[in-house]
Amino acid sequence: METPDITSTNQTRDPLAPRTGLPWRPKLPSQSVKDIAVCPSCSALKKDGQWIWGSAPSDSRRQLCPACRQIREGKPAARILIRSDVILPRRQEIFALVRNIEAIETQRSPLQRIVTISQRQRSVSIDTTDEHIARRIALAICKMTGATLSTRQQRECMTMAVS
Ligand SMILES: [Zn+2]
Repeated sequence: METPDITSTNQTRDPLAPRTGLPWRPKLPSQSVKDIAVCPSCSALKKDGQWIWGSAPSDSRRQLCPACRQIREGKPAARILIRSDVILPRRQEIFALVRNIEAIETQRSPLQRIVTISQRQRSVSIDTTDEHIARRIALAICKMTGATLSTRQQRECMTMAVS
């Protein structure tokens, strides 16, 4: 499978290529192909040190992406705790909002994901692979419900309380 070279700014045309109107793109040297890794779990690509969505050459090396590793090991980077009295009156609306933000953020980056959503005694907790997506979700819920956000770092996990 051809991988589009998004980093190339080379607009030179191959004089022998048919006139398609598309700029000529040189084939990636084999060294670059070896530098591309693909996550065996979610198919994200690691290219130039960045994890992105795309299609990888079939001979790419396999490497679990940080988000899939966190999900596998159950080690979220952030946890949102939404107090029951905030979530209960608008449960459907809040979950739709959460799923909408997840779709946008995960499409932008494979490393922005929700790990789990779980019901606790007095709250709903949402674990995420990154602080950025957690903050977006927490702030959007606060904006919708008028709740307030307080954050604290607990070991390797940022906890965001919405109450
Ligand atoms: Zn992955």
